[in-house]
Amino acid sequence: MRANLSLHEINIGMFVDTHSHIYSSEFSLDRDEVIARAVSVGIGRIVLPNIDSSSLKPMLDLTDSVPGLFFPLIGLHPTSVKEDFRKELQILEYWMGKRKFYGIGEIGIDLYWDKSFLEEQIEAFRIQIGWAKKAQLPIVIHVRDSFSEVFEVLREEYSAELKGVFHSFTGTIDQAKQVTDLGFKIGVNGILTFKKSGMDEVIKQINLKYLVIETDSPWLAPAPHRGRRNESSYLTNIADKLALLHNTSTKEIAKITTKNAQELFDL
Ligand SMILES: [Zn+2]
Repeated sequence: MRANLSLHEINIGMFVDTHSHIYSSEFSLDRDEVIARAVSVGIGRIVLPNIDSSSLKPMLDLTDSVPGLFFPLIGLHPTSVKEDFRKELQILEYWMGKRKFYGIGEIGIDLYWDKSFLEEQIEAFRIQIGWAKKAQLPIVIHVRDSFSEVFEVLREEYSAELKGVFHSFTGTIDQAKQVTDLGFKIGVNGILTFKKSGMDEVIKQINLKYLVIETDSPWLAPAPHRGRRNESSYLTNIADKLALLHNTSTKEIAKITTKNAQELFDL
């Protein structure tokens, strides 16, 4: 149960889930129920990061099915960067001219699953940051065992207008400061509620103006749902935990993180 937010306090649309893959096949049997539960706890907007050319259609079909709820991004996920990444990027670039997207994502570098395409990952990351700068869109960055590699590219490609978020942040306080010094946001998800993650110590030291919240569903369900499929309605568990750490109310967390998300993605 949510700790400090009673039902009558919920304003419809108070939260933004800034990272959900609800268009994925994990939700094909009960997607409508999942959406209804999210709306009923106050999730008013859900940002959809893309993976590669194969996820575009399900993501855009879902976006069109419930007007005003979903905000799609476009980008090639680092774990989908293989030999054919230039062809993938070509397809995505074609779609960029066809539809409205709210950011470039998710992009970045992942050295946890596979290191063999590091050069390609760096190149794809660089190219897509270029798209973001040209289209004046924010970037949603995926980092896994790759903070220094990501930061090196980001420093080289940086321009004052470039903005974005380090989604699913799991770094140190020093790394968090590097992110916020650059003016980037930190995406907080269920990992914050995991007992041994140590993220509570880091996140409680970060000014709320730098934070956005996300589920990353279907992955990383927060406590007490840990280990199960994640969904947007569990965002309230993350907001509750954040409120506790920052000694404030869940309502205040909703207000600040929603404002941050609106500004970042121009929602
Ligand atoms: Zn993701």
